[in-house]
Amino acid sequence: MNDFRAESEELRAKELDAVKRVLHSGWYILGGELSQFEEKWAGVCGTNYAIGVGNGMDAIEIGLRSLGIGPGDEVITTPMTAFATVLAILRAGATPVLADINPKTALLDIASVARCISRRTKAILLVHLYGQLRDMRAWKNFCENHRVLLLEDCAQAHLAKSEEGFAGSVGVFGAYSFYPTKNLGAMGDAGALVTNNKALAEQAKKIRNYGQSERYHHPEIGMNSRMDEIQAALLDVRLGWLEEFTNSRKKIAKSYYQKIKNHKIQLLDTPEDSDSHVYHLFVVLCECREILASHLFSLGIHSFSHYPIPIHLQSSCLGIKIDPMGLSNAESHAERCLSIPCHPQMSSQDIKAVIDAINIF
Ligand SMILES: *Cc1c(COP(=O)(O)O)cnc(C)c1O
Repeated sequence: MNDFRAESEELRAKELDAVKRVLHSGWYILGGELSQFEEKWAGVCGTNYAIGVGNGMDAIEIGLRSLGIGPGDEVITTPMTAFATVLAILRAGATPVLADINPKTALLDIASVARCISRRTKAILLVHLYGQLRDMRAWKNFCENHRVLLLEDCAQAHLAKSEEGFAGSVGVFGAYSFYPTKNLGAMGDAGALVTNNKALAEQAKKIRNYGQSERYHHPEIGMNSRMDEIQAALLDVRLGWLEEFTNSRKKIAKSYYQKIKNHKIQLLDTPEDSDSHVYHLFVVLCECREILASHLFSLGIHSFSHYPIPIHLQSSCLGIKIDPMGLSNAESHAERCLSIPCHPQMSSQDIKAVIDAINIF
């Protein structure tokens, strides 16, 4: 599903230089490497601010806390996401409410979200699942009409762009993860919050650093969640490859859409346009998903499910608030989804092998 060892020698050499530079600087936390990466990442996302934090989950929690969203407040999101999305809402002290997905995209369904709105709803946290940005204008209007905040979990959507702008620049904040397997990944944990809101950015900078305003002054009850200098320096290097890597993912997806032909396999809807999907994952749907996975494995092809258990069926979340009409689309998707290899180190033979293996299934 990923092959970092196959990355170019040129990239590896630049990464080693970056690490050496940090070691020689003698400055490891909250220094020049982080400020430089933050400035670049804000530029890439088209936002005024980027705040480097410990990981993607913390980015969401810090964003919520910076907005004062906490106990008594509801945040609507999707059951078809990484557990971290919902865990961040819980960690902020707020109440997650799960709406159903659109079966054609696996993204939040607007009608289901509308059923979940209550007097306590403060925000809708969209997850740009698999790298898809969709209906951003509709979501913006929906949130304005209901007087709730639009928030974005961009952990899978680096460089995804809609007519409203890049992922993370449309909502009040966007939360990015740079977990190693993400489209832009560090060599450890890292994340960032992007926003155009100055007050939110200032609050987030305090919260990530013990709630500290200036040394030894703690006006907030904060956290310890800072992106370290080595990760920032590595991300700065890897950012130079992101566009090329993203284009490779798009090319692979294009081949899959053109050449996968098997009546037992369904594909999700194609994106609105070529900018709006960055294929963090390429997902197929199959009624006999486990048999398909074993078939692929027998041919040396790995696959995973994203995600086999929707959040509301996790044993720790059984009492969670959901759409009164249920989450049947998410449950059905969870049973059928399979992510097949789609990463920048795949050769054309690798891509053909996956297509052939699926077509003979
Ligand atoms: C990876 C991921 C996260 C969590 O990111 P971490 O950096 O691992 O904390 C959150 N949401 C989604 C959708 C993700 O894919």
